[in-house]
Amino acid sequence: MAREGRNCLLKDQSRIYYIESIMRVMLYFGPAGYPEGSKSPIDALEIVHRLGLNALEVQFVRQARMEERKARSFGSRAEELGILLSAHAPYYINFNSVKRTTVNKSVEWVLRTARIADQMGAWVIVFHAASYSGKSPRRATNAVIRGLQRCKELMEEEGLNSKLGLETMGKKGTWGTLAEIGEVIKVVEGVVPVVDFGHIHARSNGYFGSAGDFREIIDEVEAIYDDHMHCHFSCIEYTDAGEKRHLPLAAKDPDFSFLAEVLTGIHRNATVISETPLLEKDALRMKNMVGSI
Ligand SMILES: [Zn+2]
Repeated sequence: MAREGRNCLLKDQSRIYYIESIMRVMLYFGPAGYPEGSKSPIDALEIVHRLGLNALEVQFVRQARMEERKARSFGSRAEELGILLSAHAPYYINFNSVKRTTVNKSVEWVLRTARIADQMGAWVIVFHAASYSGKSPRRATNAVIRGLQRCKELMEEEGLNSKLGLETMGKKGTWGTLAEIGEVIKVVEGVVPVVDFGHIHARSNGYFGSAGDFREIIDEVEAIYDDHMHCHFSCIEYTDAGEKRHLPLAAKDPDFSFLAEVLTGIHRNATVISETPLLEKDALRMKNMVGSI
């Protein structure tokens, strides 16, 4: 979906075209994982495209493995279909683990995902960076900074350019508030926030009750990173400890229609990945809700 920028009065036609193209806002919607009934990764792309969606987050949450040849052909088909790819790295990553081996393996898990992401052209790798592991939030943030600096060094050596996406986390014992993520972005280049609205909602015992609440978080995100905003959305069940389980969009907790209202007026590119149990079906509902405002 694209919206044209404001008209401009410059006489030079090519410059007008240039200004309009940089002001065009693109919104991307897609599922976290292959749609139901996909017979292969390429088939998953065809289904995403046929549904009218334009994003897909490939899940490497158990292990990051895909043959290079397959990753490359998957990436070129995604490009042909205009589908923006992202990749979710394994869940086991914890840069603040008390075990040295887990910290070292976390670097390796990010690297493996980064290699596949590079082959398929996924612009960002999303991951859960750490748990507090009984240490202070400050120490956890420092551990994440050290871990990501190591990842970046190794990625640079291999010429891997995907961004490292730090996801806002839904459990109170897990590292990853927007403020903590902002601290890392200040220090490590190439790191971006991944705004999981369901997680923010669960962590704050039901944060989002209006469009204004969503706008407030998006403003906070913009203060730490003002380029393409990569988001996850799901309705969510939560307790005092935070996230319990993901729910379909129809649960309206939080209500996507408030976010749809904010996205309609947004001035920069954004992706919304559906993480509800209804993945692509809810991704399409989200797209239609934004389109109908
Ligand atoms: Zn995640």
